[in-house]
Amino acid sequence: MAFEGLAERLQSTLQKIRGKGKVTEADVKAMMREVRLALLYADVNLKVVKDFIQRVSERAVGQEVMKSLTPGQQVIKVVKEELTALMGGEAEKLAVSDKPPTVIMMVGLQGAGKTTTSGKLANLLRKKYNRTPLLVAADIYRPAAVSQLQTLGKQLGVPVYSSEENADPVEIAKQALKKAAEEHYDTVIIDTAGRLHVDERLMDELKNMKEAVDPDEILLVVDAMTGQDAVNVAERFSGQLGITGVVLTKLDGDTRGGAALSIRAVTNKPIKFVGMGEKLDALEPFHPERMASRILG
Ligand code: GDP
Repeated sequence: MAFEGLAERLQSTLQKIRGKGKVTEADVKAMMREVRLALLYADVNLKVVKDFIQRVSERAVGQEVMKSLTPGQQVIKVVKEELTALMGGEAEKLAVSDKPPTVIMMVGLQGAGKTTTSGKLANLLRKKYNRTPLLVAADIYRPAAVSQLQTLGKQLGVPVYSSEENADPVEIAKQALKKAAEEHYDTVIIDTAGRLHVDERLMDELKNMKEAVDPDEILLVVDAMTGQDAVNVAERFSGQLGITGVVLTKLDGDTRGGAALSIRAVTNKPIKFVGMGEKLDALEPFHPERMASRILG
């Protein structure tokens, strides 16, 4: 299960302070040493850990006295609030264009789960938000990606736009937007090309696509299992292309948690969805507070 080691460590650390009727500065210090180790062990970015420890320490030492909580409980509350803030605070909704269709570009490296997530997102938007999505197969370099998306579309009953004769992804996307306008699809989800590494060609192609379709969302799909690599990839996509949010996949695996806890703080871009399995309904909106509760028990 994801976050298992982190959850266990943090919970046992907080357990020690929970019942305390008086929390001294030395108590806070000792606790924060353990919290720091737990976060580093979970592969959280070093600077993110430092800032987090500093914020919690300041608030925990100089905490406001609340009658309803013991000082120990008060410290735990601070940790939970800061952990929630670290992951973005509020849940961030998907942008909706006032002039349909809403255009969503899905970007990311090969294997992150981009094509699967495109299908899952179409499914979620249709089932939970009553939207009428059109999927677009613009990952033409990986031939299997087009047929994979077509298969997903069939399974879900969501139409997929693809083009056999057109080898230009930007043209494919433009044609898809035209079709969406004519046939009244309110959301267009474009599965763009992925590559093994972030390189100039990939970025140039994505920039051209961005220019041509003027997306409401550019969602970067990253694999939570890859830890700090996922954070580095997010930093580069964010800096070079500009993204509006992140989808963190494979959170059903035994990821230590580093990507989930670092991405927002490093890139300042929200995690909007998390992938919780291979099934097509295993995509959930991301709620920082719920995730913090899960970690802290
Ligand atoms: P792409 O190359 O980025 O388009 O990646 P794919 O969509 O083909 O996904 C790569 C693999 O990851 C596939 O086997 C997917 O089933 C799997 N996958 C995607 N999302 C998740 C997830 O949230 N959990 C798990 N366990 N597997 C996932």
